Amino acid sequence: MKIIIKIGTSTLAHMTGHLNIRHVEELVKVLADLKNAGHSLVLVSSGAIGMGVGKLNLANRPDDMPTKQAAAAVGQCELMYTYDRLFAQYGHTVAQVLLTRDDVDDAERKRNFENVMSRLMELGVLPIVNENDAVATDEVGVSTTIGENDTLSAIVAGCVGADLLILLSDIDGLYTSDPRKDPDAAFIPVVHEITPEIEALAGGAGSALGSGGMTTKLKAAKIAMENGCDMVIANGQKPETLYDIVEGNYTGTRFIGSIGNMGKESET
Ligand code: GLU
Repeated sequence: MKIIIKIGTSTLAHMTGHLNIRHVEELVKVLADLKNAGHSLVLVSSGAIGMGVGKLNLANRPDDMPTKQAAAAVGQCELMYTYDRLFAQYGHTVAQVLLTRDDVDDAERKRNFENVMSRLMELGVLPIVNENDAVATDEVGVSTTIGENDTLSAIVAGCVGADLLILLSDIDGLYTSDPRKDPDAAFIPVVHEITPEIEALAGGAGSALGSGGMTTKLKAAKIAMENGCDMVIANGQKPETLYDIVEGNYTGTRFIGSIGNMGKESET
């Protein structure tokens, strides 16, 4: 299978912005193993700004654009150094691909992106994609960014014709309300359609270091489902669950993009 895995800052870094070594090592081990099993993987990894915050010893995630850009430039380097080092232990080669909105809006640039991605995968390389936060900025009325990696990963999934998109997050999936605030929140294992009722469930933004939330995850699900790609939201704290997800077992919330794609549709 061709699988896109989106890794959020909350999976990679502690609240301090410094690398969560244990999580990242466990995650890379599972990803390397999935690749050994014959799957083609693409990572869409956040963490540039978060890790830049840690590396530069800033007190908080910056609000001003130049500091954000600077943190991203420093942190992206640290991020790739980490992945390169860890994947090399299992004999895998990684590549960095950084995008801005123009790269996927313009037909020719999009084709360039698709070409390099398919060539990298043919060469057995693991592409690691992020938004080019050092240069993509949002001024009033002029947006050159995609803005967050949930949407970016769904766009990447469409470009490479992925079978499955997995969003690793800091919660187990979609609930009827925020489980961190509401003890009665019920887990939703499968979604067949993004209805207004489902959209209404997405409350609030994500954690202090990342920038996503359930709203952006549902937006990503819509894009993925339209492209016939299944999408799963799962908890990045338990990398072993990736094995279950890839085998088609219902772990996390699965958004069904293509009928019978995973051959298991029993649970709605
Ligand atoms: N591109 C951002 C970063 O690497 C992350 C965006 C997001 O968290 O969705 O820090």
